[in-house]
Amino acid sequence: MIKKREDNKHICVYCGSKSGRGEVYYREAKLLGIAIALKGYGLIFGGGNVGLMGAVAEGTLEAGGSATGVIPHALAKRDLAHRELHELIVVNDMHERKAIMAQRADAFVALPGGYGTLEELFEVIAWLQLGFHTKPIGLLNTEGYYDNLIAFLDNAVQRQFLYIEHRSLLNVESKADELVNTMAALLDPEKKQ
Ligand code: AMP
Repeated sequence: MIKKREDNKHICVYCGSKSGRGEVYYREAKLLGIAIALKGYGLIFGGGNVGLMGAVAEGTLEAGGSATGVIPHALAKRDLAHRELHELIVVNDMHERKAIMAQRADAFVALPGGYGTLEELFEVIAWLQLGFHTKPIGLLNTEGYYDNLIAFLDNAVQRQFLYIEHRSLLNVESKADELVNTMAALLDPEKKQ
């Protein structure tokens, strides 16, 4: 395990355990990991070395940043835990994983992914809506991957299942560096970005 650097703030990344079709998702995920490190933030993620999870961690580590993985025993046992992290927290189940990730994070971003990613994203956004935390949340809409989801949220506003002020809690960008800049402006508004 690499020695942990003391970072001021941490960004929690939720993303797919798959890489998606084509190279663009992997590339943008790695760029996001790099941008997090270059802004001086630490990465909190699912601890796997598969799919976009592996890409984000690779980017952060290559750029000299610190990465903390939080992984349940069952997934780590399958030898899927990323080995070269600053910290790997092995937990009993998904509830514990999500709780630790949420506690340690100062902001959350979701990248393209499937059920797991969506579940994690909507949990933290629902908690923000209810006022259980005040941490900013971003969505990386690589190549329009989430266009239909965004249209769905607009439809929910139209049909009055979602307040417009809650719709705007989700900060959407299509490029990794722009998303990290947006998150940095929300995390550290006093700093010149
Ligand atoms: P999905 O978006 O459905 O690919 O799910 C992403 C989530 O799946 C991650 O946040 C993890 O909780 C979980 N996951 C699936 N496979 C793995 C794995 N091999 N290592 C770590 N986490 C995994």
